[in-house]
Formats: sequence, structure tokens, C-alpha cells
Amino acid sequence: MSGIFGVASRTNGMDALFYGTDYHSHLGTEFAGLAVQGNQLDRTIHRISHGQFKNLFYDFYRERSGELGIGVISDYDPQPIVVQARFGTFALVTAGLVTNAQPLGERLVEQGVTFSEILNGRLNQTELVAKLIALKPDPVAGIEHMFDRVEGSVSLLLMMREGIYAACDRHGRFPLALGAGDSTMAAASETCAFPNLGLRVTMFVQPGQIVFFNADGVQDSFVGSGTRKTCSFLWIYTGYPASTYEGVSVEAVRERCGRALARRDPVEADLAAGVPDSGTGHAVGYAMESGLPFRRPLVKYSAGYGRSYIPPSQEVRDRIARMKLIPIEDICAGNRLIVCEDSIVRGTQLKNLTIRKLWDAGAAEVHIRVACPPLMFPCRYNLSTRSVEELAARRAIRALEGQAPDDISAYLDEDGQKYHDMVEWIRRDLNCTSLAYLHLAGMQEAISLPDAGLCTYCWNGQG
Ligand code: SF4
Repeated sequence: MSGIFGVASRTNGMDALFYGTDYHSHLGTEFAGLAVQGNQLDRTIHRISHGQFKNLFYDFYRERSGELGIGVISDYDPQPIVVQARFGTFALVTAGLVTNAQPLGERLVEQGVTFSEILNGRLNQTELVAKLIALKPDPVAGIEHMFDRVEGSVSLLLMMREGIYAACDRHGRFPLALGAGDSTMAAASETCAFPNLGLRVTMFVQPGQIVFFNADGVQDSFVGSGTRKTCSFLWIYTGYPASTYEGVSVEAVRERCGRALARRDPVEADLAAGVPDSGTGHAVGYAMESGLPFRRPLVKYSAGYGRSYIPPSQEVRDRIARMKLIPIEDICAGNRLIVCEDSIVRGTQLKNLTIRKLWDAGAAEVHIRVACPPLMFPCRYNLSTRSVEELAARRAIRALEGQAPDDISAYLDEDGQKYHDMVEWIRRDLNCTSLAYLHLAGMQEAISLPDAGLCTYCWNGQG
């Protein structure tokens, strides 16, 4: 995943750029970058896997000034990319994934286009997008051309001396919002970046739409062709609770998911809790609907652990993950716990870092409630380190069938026996008292995006 932020200000926009970009730190762990347009275009990129954004970019932020700026927190490519095109020099940040990057890049190379940002033998997809845009005589034609050529989903911010182009991918998969304040306009993946910068949401960029803005507001808007397929996972897990997409609040969706789980739940318990932090909103909803007290049998110790700090080895990463969650024995002991989790990917952390600790702290029962259906497919619109085989549901199916079947449709029928066998297999593997997932329809209803589509590929292979 990646998050992008851009600002146009009548005065120095560096404060907004620095903090606005930092508010996207939950969306990426590899690289971050800023580009600022003052008297000249300036850019810097750092790896954030070994340090926090605020520390790494503080000097750049303090030493520069400019009215325009773009920033990115990126899970894979170093960005921003700066390119000189025939329509002028521009800086570019992107969020999303070009799934045909390799063949597309090879065709461009045959046509004489060169690439310089190769990392681990892989094309930098932001550079690829920049080169496609630069083939055309103006930015709007270039972005349209890029949309025509790429498969996957790419939202972007393109900064020129005159202002910033904000473009949302043709499926609206990774949303972009515009915000405005007294002397400032901004664009962001996450609207949680706006309130503390004195900005309020003024519009959500529509699928395929390209908007050009400067400090005086939106100067031009080009409606594109597109069919909405917004990423459902933004509301369930990836997005920040204080954000909204298309006007639908992340936290409110999580509460509705929790309420829906509670409505279907026959289990008697003593308290409702969430796996910190992303299970918390779901647990609040569960508690409100069920009337159970919301309590915290597990808390997260975050002080001293930067959110984006990724330790160098798996062993250290595992140890830190184990250290962060601390059980509270007084809350656990003798109690029947409802524990809400956003999703189950592999299940290993839930089993080893949550459920085992709750048992060790004396819980009488541990009922896991998951705010979305079983994950069946890794995301194909984001670079994902997961493989199909790793997913807990796929491991269950493989174990039940004795091999990985070609057709898993029977396991998608939430009322069918195979679905129940799969959930029971996962429950035994996790070692919890009971396990229940929110149904797909319940999740869609909780998101309740009016007259628009959702990507649900993770769960049903459609998106
Ligand atoms: S596949 Fe899943 S994570 Fe990827 S865009 Fe679709 S819903 Fe989001």
C-alpha cells in the first residue's frame, strides 16, 4: 500500500506537507519522499524501514520553503520521481500497482524510452507512470494515456510549477480527497491528514477524474471514464479510523461491522474487546450492540516502537511483535472474552500473540469474532508479500481436501457445510473457544457506499 499527499499554499506549505505526509505513515514501511516547489524543485527520498518519517525528513522540512509540495509513504518504490517532459518539469507520486509493469516497460524500452530507477532488477512503477505521461503534449493527455496503457490501479499527484494534478485510478480503488483551508488546498489518500492542518474535505476525486488545483482552489477538472471498485479493506483494516472515503467514515464502518457480528452471535460472554489497534473500532460496535462492557484484556505498548520501524530480521520482528501486546490478568482471569479482530491473514500472530496470551492470563473462554469473511485471495492491486498458500482459509481447505483444489467455490457459500468445516478447522488451529466471521453481505452493508461498487476480490475473487 502507499499513501500520497499534496499541498498548495499561498504562504510556505512545508508544515502542511511534512505533517500531512506523515499522517500516511500507516500505509507503507519501505520508502518515503517529499518534493517541494519553491524557487526551484527540490526532492528527497529516504528508506523508512529503519527509521521514522519525522526524524528522517525533519532537516529537509526545516531548511526548505515552497508554496507547492507532494509527499508519499511507499511500500515498494522510491518516490517522488522528477521528469523533464516537453510540457515542463514535473514531480510525481503514485499509489497503487501496475500489474503489467514488466511487459509495458519492455515495450517502452523497444521504443527508445530509458529507465534509471531500477531496484532489485525491477522497474520503478512510478518512473514507468511518469514516462508514459511524458509521452504526451500535456499532463491531462499524458495521464489519460497512462490510464489507457496500465493494468491495475494507479492514483497519483503530479506537481508542476503552476499547481498540482490529482488523478484517481479508473476504479477509484485507492481514493483521493481534496481539502481546503484559509490559504491552502490539499489532496490526500487519507482525510485524517486534514483536520489538524485546518483543512476540511471539499471533494472526493471520482474514478478516472483528473483535478488541477493550486492555492486558489480547483482550477480545472476532467471527468474520466471509470467504474468504481473501491478497496473494501480500507474500511476494515488498512485505513486510519479518523479517515473517510467517499464520505463514509472508517470508524463508523468498523462499529457497524462489530454490531453486525453481535447481532448474529448466540454466545454468552462477560466482555467485548478488540485486538489493538485495528480491532478496537469493531469491538466498540460489538459492545454497543450486545450490551457487554468494552474492556481491554490486551493493550499495546507502542512507546519506543516507531510505527514504521521495521527491524532488520524476521526473528527481531517476531520478538518485537510479541513484546508489544501485553495481557492484563485482572481483566482476563475467569472471564469469557469476545475478542474482535479486523481479519485473519495467516493466523499465526493471532494464535501466538493474542489467543495464547489470553489463555495464559487465565481467560475462561476466548471467542474470536472477525470483521470480514475469510481471506481467500491475496490482493492483486497492491504488491503483497502474501501467497495464496499462506492464507489461513487456504491452509484449512488444503488440509480438508488433502490437496489444493482448483475450485474453491463451495467454501465461499457461507451457509454451506464446507464453509463451516473450514471455519472449524481454523478455530482448532487457533485454539480458541469459538470463531465466527462477518458474512460478505454484512460487511458490504456496514460499508454502505451509496450507488457505488466495492472491490471484494480478497474474499470472493471478484473485483
Ligand atoms: S483485492 Fe482486497 S486489498 Fe486489494 S483492492 Fe481489492 S479489496 Fe482491497
